[in-house]
Amino acid sequence: MLYQRSSALFAEAQKYIPGGVNSPVRAFKAVGGDPIFVKKAKGAYLYDEDDNRLIDYIASWGPLILGHAHESVINAVIEKAKLGTSFGMPTEIETQLAQLAVSMVPNIDKIRFVNSGTEACMSAVRLARGYTGKDKIIKFAGCYHGHSDSFLIQAGSGAVTFGSPNSPGVTKGTAKDTLLAIYNDIESVRALVAANKGEIATVIIEPVAGNMGCIVPTDEFIKGLRELCTQEGILLLFDEVMTGFRLGKGGAQEALGIDADIVCFGKVIGGGLPVGAFAAKTEIMSHLAPEGPVYQAGTLSGNPLAMAAGLAMLTELNNKPEVFESLAKKTAYLHEGLDSVLKEKGVPYQINRFGSMISVHFTENPVVDFDSSAKGNNETFKKYFHGMLENGIYLPPSAFESYFLNDALTYADIDETVAALKKVNL
Ligand SMILES: *Cc1c(COP(=O)(O)O)cnc(C)c1O
Repeated sequence: MLYQRSSALFAEAQKYIPGGVNSPVRAFKAVGGDPIFVKKAKGAYLYDEDDNRLIDYIASWGPLILGHAHESVINAVIEKAKLGTSFGMPTEIETQLAQLAVSMVPNIDKIRFVNSGTEACMSAVRLARGYTGKDKIIKFAGCYHGHSDSFLIQAGSGAVTFGSPNSPGVTKGTAKDTLLAIYNDIESVRALVAANKGEIATVIIEPVAGNMGCIVPTDEFIKGLRELCTQEGILLLFDEVMTGFRLGKGGAQEALGIDADIVCFGKVIGGGLPVGAFAAKTEIMSHLAPEGPVYQAGTLSGNPLAMAAGLAMLTELNNKPEVFESLAKKTAYLHEGLDSVLKEKGVPYQINRFGSMISVHFTENPVVDFDSSAKGNNETFKKYFHGMLENGIYLPPSAFESYFLNDALTYADIDETVAALKKVNL
């Protein structure tokens, strides 16, 4: 496949945009080569500026769970846009989306809309601190909660892809309030809690991790976390920006059977427009301005275009919950296919999967936390990524990212994907 026009556009972009992109992982730094510029997309396919067709396993990093340019979402946005794009005043559709989201997700009464997952997590932590009157938070190495200062401590995703787990610009003052635990290791959390008795506001976690590849929590770990938080008066914060409305109507809370105290959303809830949200029981949410003293605001928050896309998306998912099962089956089918081909290649690998999240790691040992994920062989990953791309398959350009399947993918697309892997030399 040729990518001449993409490469030319990338060269031009680099003159005016740092690194040529508006979000680092897009730049292909971890895998080498030039990023691909997209012209349009429909269903499971991307069409790039060189008119290549690619089967897409990212779907804008998650939001497009029903595939690109889904008709009901696109129509909702077009019709809303004709009425004006933003008013900075309340609109009925905000309540409609809030009501629907609250009805789908367990254990939440009220929800506040923001513009990104980053904003959701940042605001949720402020709320947790305001509610508990405590300053410190615990996060897990390799978990990504957006690019707000207090989370850029051993963050997964782009932050580790670029070897800067602790970003310059984050002050020591901020960093000292973020304590770092090990995923799937409840003892690491217990030790931090014991050493900081009565000082911890919240434990924030990706309940199924997707930013160090896909990592599934053990039952013992996630249950232990819930118990520990309850015992110690710590709020358990599920960052469901990736898992929310993807692992089921009720996200990871439902899939794992665990109640969180605060839940963050992003990605799917906006249907491809910029939306994030955080939600909790009334008792906690009432601490938020203007009802309570914890400040949080946004000029474009809840704007009608974003709400229309989100409402159309959640309505589809609510009316057709079999989508989640269908996606999980397709993902299992992909897993089997990749597994059958990789077995023949003679390189060590692991495949992790939960629902419609899946990742391939080129390492001998099970991938259960950040350290085991980081042991993956990046040279093999590069060959895998570029080999698949050469055959028309677009995978995440970093070994630290989960794939996000979308329901427009057909079994024939997955067969094509597995056939492509057969041609790749690892
Ligand atoms: C993507 C992501 C975020 C950040 O969301 P943005 O909309 O990119 O700011 C936060 N947490 C998780 C788990 C994510 O996957």
